[in-house]
Amino acid sequence: MKNDLTLVLKALNFSAGKHRHQRRKDTAASPYINHPIEVAYTLWTAGGIADETAIIAALLHDTIEDTDATPGEISAVFGEEVLGLVLEMSDDKRLPKQERKREQIAHSPHLSRRAKQIKLADKICNVRDVAFNPPDRWSRERRSEYLAWAEAVIDGLRGVNAGLEKHFDEILALARQKIAEEENEAAPQPEEKS
Ligand code: NDP
Ligand code: ZN
Repeated sequence: MKNDLTLVLKALNFSAGKHRHQRRKDTAASPYINHPIEVAYTLWTAGGIADETAIIAALLHDTIEDTDATPGEISAVFGEEVLGLVLEMSDDKRLPKQERKREQIAHSPHLSRRAKQIKLADKICNVRDVAFNPPDRWSRERRSEYLAWAEAVIDGLRGVNAGLEKHFDEILALARQKIAEEENEAAPQPEEKS
């Protein structure tokens, strides 16, 4: 990355402004902006990605899908390359949810290399959240289904960043372990014989 944080900080400011009224789905209703920051941080640390365009796109990755940000606004401020990556990260909201989930699996092999890396960082963060800061009222079954779906999306795009892929596999294993532990805790204990 060139030694100039101006555009990165501008993206952080833009994203914080756009997501300002949004909350994550966890019980504490954390501010939404924590998520894109975590995705950019994961790209930088686990992925070793020091590419300004990718970091900016990571900060902005949910703005088109989840806020009133428009493609025109993003290209005017951050350029066509960043816009292209944000669009690659955006689901088509006109489709029903189940179909959007299927589309992500079908499309992941066809994403650009940088979009694949951002997708990996995004799924790392969401898999971690589903295990350790899960959406309110999601059953263990639903959380496990999410993990299986995330794994299917990621299996379609491997071969773009060994660090991120290893990190994804580790987080996924930890997430499954956490849900299995919760299941064991909830299971009725065998009665003690007197
Ligand atoms: P999503 O799978 O869309 O919700 C997960 C998404 O929400 C994540 O990918 C993430 O996206 C965002 N998110 C925000 N906060 C959190 C958090 N704390 N932890 C994890 N993710 C978070 O769930 P939907 O409610 O939209 O339902 C999707 C599917 O689940 C549907 O197809 C539906 O049919 C099915 N379903 C299953 C049920 C079951 O019991 N098995 C019950 C109901 C629905 P981002 O990165 O964009 O923020
Ligand atoms: Zn995201």
